[in-house]
Amino acid sequence: MSKRRMLVIGAHSADFVWRAAGAVATHNAAGGEALVVALSYGERGESGELWKQPDQTEENVKRIRHDEASKAAAAVGAEFQAFDLGDYPLHVGPQEVDRLAELMRDFAPHVVLTHPEKDPFNPDHPAAHAAVSRARLLTSGAGVASGFRTAPPSEFLVFEPHQPELCDFTPTVYVDITAVFDQKLAAMTHMAAQQYLQEYYAQRADQRGNHARKVTGNSEIRQAEAFQRLLPNVVESL
Ligand SMILES: [Zn+2]
Repeated sequence: MSKRRMLVIGAHSADFVWRAAGAVATHNAAGGEALVVALSYGERGESGELWKQPDQTEENVKRIRHDEASKAAAAVGAEFQAFDLGDYPLHVGPQEVDRLAELMRDFAPHVVLTHPEKDPFNPDHPAAHAAVSRARLLTSGAGVASGFRTAPPSEFLVFEPHQPELCDFTPTVYVDITAVFDQKLAAMTHMAAQQYLQEYYAQRADQRGNHARKVTGNSEIRQAEAFQRLLPNVVESL
């Protein structure tokens, strides 16, 4: 049986770390493989600590961010790839959407994770969602034989944004990340440019763990990550 493949696409190189690193680690621990794509490095808008250094340059920030994200991805067993399209603003043009669709046809993911459609605090996250959503449709076709190369439709979920209520994010899936939480912590530690988020997202994992315990009655769950399915989950029986 072929490995289950997960594709995580973020607007900025660190987005996957806060929101899906645990899901990536559990996926890989279960024998899957994961590819993380960053549409930009978040070099201008999400690299605060690095810009405090005198004589800092965009190229140097991008180099550091590439290194950090590669190490964070490795900490949860994933590959990291950067499109380097620039951030604040992130513009994903038709050619880049085609590039993303081509990557999806090659990788043929079983599950795709990205940002929610809406984020009133961030101009780039919705742009990433729109690009991923479009590329995914161009990859799978309309569910009938197509006159272009396709890959089977993937599951499609969005990961938890910073302020979920304001992004119309309602969790429909909790992933128990208790067993891999150390890996998530390690991944977060690599994102030195955004240290202020490490504690925040460790707390979020604890809170979602509490919610997952309530849903399941499983007292073993300590940490979880929340996701929202955009498409129905098809099962053989209930
Ligand atoms: Zn971001």
